Amino acid sequence: MPDVAPSNRPSRISKTAAFLVRPHLLDRQAICDTFRWSDARRQLAGLPGGALNIAAEAVERHGRGARAEHPAIVWLGADGGRQTITYGELQRRSSRFANAIIALGLQRGDRLFVLAPRIPALYVAVLGALKAGVVVSPLFSAFGPEPIATRMNLGGGRALVSTAALYARKVAPVRERIPTLEHVLLAGCGGDTPAPAGAHDLDALLQRASDEFATVATAPDEMALLHFTSGTTGKPKGAVHVHEAVVAHYATGLYALDLHADDVFWCTADPGWVTGMSYGIIAPLVHGVTMVVDEAEFDPERWYRILQDERVTVWYTAPTAVRMLMKAGAGIADRYRFDGLRFIASVGEPLNPQAVWWGQDVFGLPIHDNWWQTETGGIMIANTVAQDIKPGSMGLPLPGIEAFVVQRRDGEVEIVDAPDVEGELALRAGWPSMFRGYLNDDERYRRCFVRDLYLTGDLVKRDADGYYWFVGRADDVIKSAGHLIGPFEVESALMEHPAVAEAGVIGKPDPVLGETVKAFVSLKGGYTAGEELRRELLGHARRRLGPTVAPKEIDFTAKLPRTRSGKIMRRLLKARELGLPEGDTSTLEADDRQPQ
Ligand code: AMP
Repeated sequence: MPDVAPSNRPSRISKTAAFLVRPHLLDRQAICDTFRWSDARRQLAGLPGGALNIAAEAVERHGRGARAEHPAIVWLGADGGRQTITYGELQRRSSRFANAIIALGLQRGDRLFVLAPRIPALYVAVLGALKAGVVVSPLFSAFGPEPIATRMNLGGGRALVSTAALYARKVAPVRERIPTLEHVLLAGCGGDTPAPAGAHDLDALLQRASDEFATVATAPDEMALLHFTSGTTGKPKGAVHVHEAVVAHYATGLYALDLHADDVFWCTADPGWVTGMSYGIIAPLVHGVTMVVDEAEFDPERWYRILQDERVTVWYTAPTAVRMLMKAGAGIADRYRFDGLRFIASVGEPLNPQAVWWGQDVFGLPIHDNWWQTETGGIMIANTVAQDIKPGSMGLPLPGIEAFVVQRRDGEVEIVDAPDVEGELALRAGWPSMFRGYLNDDERYRRCFVRDLYLTGDLVKRDADGYYWFVGRADDVIKSAGHLIGPFEVESALMEHPAVAEAGVIGKPDPVLGETVKAFVSLKGGYTAGEELRRELLGHARRRLGPTVAPKEIDFTAKLPRTRSGKIMRRLLKARELGLPEGDTSTLEADDRQPQ
C-alpha cells in the first residue's frame, strides 16, 4: 500500500469520540450482516399494486404529510436573493408541472431534457416529470451546443426545460438538428423577455395548470432517469436508471450521508451530473431534510458564508472544490464559524490525504471520501461517520454492496482474495440503483458484466482491513473538476475544423482540477502551426463543447501515434507528455516508434 500519510500525520483517523447524533451505521458489521434491499424498500411509502415512483417518495409523501410545512429547499440566488420552498409548496408546484406537460401531450416514457442553472424551476421540472412517468435526462448547463445536440438526439428528447438565455445561446443554433424536440419550456420569460418563437413560457403554463395530480404508478423497473456518461470511444452512453433506484438513494442517504430528519444538507454538485441528481435532489428529499441550493458558481468566501449562515449540518462536496478552498487559504475560513456542521463527504475523484486532514484542521471534521459512478446510480463504497478513516482510501462497501478486486483473463475474471493486489473493481449485480442498460446499445451493456459481476472500469486495491484504494481508470476517459469527459467527443469537435487532419486528446494531471484536457493535433496541408491557429482552435472547441469539455491546451504535431489498426494511442501521447516510459509499443505503426 502506498505511504499516503502526509508527513507527521497518522495513517488512520480513529472514530472513538462520542457522536452528537447517533450514526445510522454505528455498528457496521451487524447491519451489513442482516441488511436486505427488500427491507430498505419497505421503509418507503410505495404506491398501490407494488408500484414505485421516485417523486412520490421524494416530494408527494412529505408534501401531503407531516412535513408539508418543513423547508425542502433553501434557494440562494446568485444575486443575493433567498427563497424557502416547503415540501407542501414543492409538491404543488411539481404537480402543476406534471399537469402542464401532460396538457402538451407528453406521455409516460417520453424523454424530457433539462438544461438550466440551479434555479427552483429545475427542481420543480425534474420532480413533476417523474410524477408524470416522463423520463428525465439532465444536461450540464456549461455544455456547448454540440454535446447538447448529441445527447438529445441519442435520447430522443421530446421536450426541453431551460431558460431563455441558455436556449438562445446553446439550443437555438442546433435546434433543427434535433428533430425529435417538440416542446421547449423556458423559465424566467414574461415581461420584457417574452418566450421566443417556438417555445413556451414555463411560468405561464404553471400558473394555468392545476396543482392536483395523481402520481403515475410507475413499475419499479420502469425507466426514470437517463444519465449520459462518456467512454473512451464512440458517442456518449445513455445510462438507463429506473424508479427502483430510489431504494438505494434512501439507503445510502441513511448509511453513507447519515441523514437525520433535522439536517440541513448541502450537496454542491450540479444536477446536470449524476451526483447532483441522486444526492442534490432525490436522496435528501426522500429523507425529508432541508437542502441548500446555491445558484452561484464556486466562490470560497460565499461557500464558507453559506456553511455558517445556513447552519449546514451535512455537506457533500468534491475534491476539486476542496482543493480550491485549500488554495484560497485558511485565513478566509478563520472568519467563519461552523457550529452546525457534523459530517463532510466528498466524491468524484481521488481525495488526497492532505484534503482529508485539511477538513480536520479547518472544520474540526475530516473529509470522508466515497466512491460511485453514473452506472451505479448511488454511493457504493464509503468512509462513514462512525468508522475509522484511512486518509487516501475510498472506504468500505456499504450495506447491501458486495465489492471485489478482479483480474480479467481471456474474457473471464478471477477474483483476487489477497490484500494489496491491484485489479479492477467489480460489484455483484443486484443493487436497486444499478443502471439497467445503455440506451440502444445492449452489446456495450453486456460487455460490462461477467457472470453476475459488474466491472466498473476502475483499478483499485483492497487492503487487509477491507478498505478500497483508488489506483486509476482502466480506460482513457478524463476526469476534470469531477466531470467525466470522453476524449472522442473532444477529438470529433476539433476535427470539424477545416485545418485539423487528426486529433488525439488526453487528461493531463493538474494539482487542483485533477486533470485538464489537452489536445494534440496534426494539420491538413496548406495550414501552418502557430499561435494564431492555436487560439482559433481553442476558441472553436470552446464554442462547440463549452468550457468544461473543451481542451485547455493544444499542441501541434506532425503525426499522431496510431496502432497498426489505426487507433490513436492516447496512452502513448500521455506517456510522452509526462516523460514516462512508453510501455508496450508493439502495436504501434512501425514508423512511429521512438528510438530506444
Ligand atoms: P461519473 O460516472 O461521472 O460519476 O464518474 C465516475 C468515475 O469517477 C469513477 O469510475 C472513478 O473513476 C471516478 N471516481 C468517483 N469517485 C471517486 C473517488 N472517491 N476516488 C477516485 N475516483 C473516483
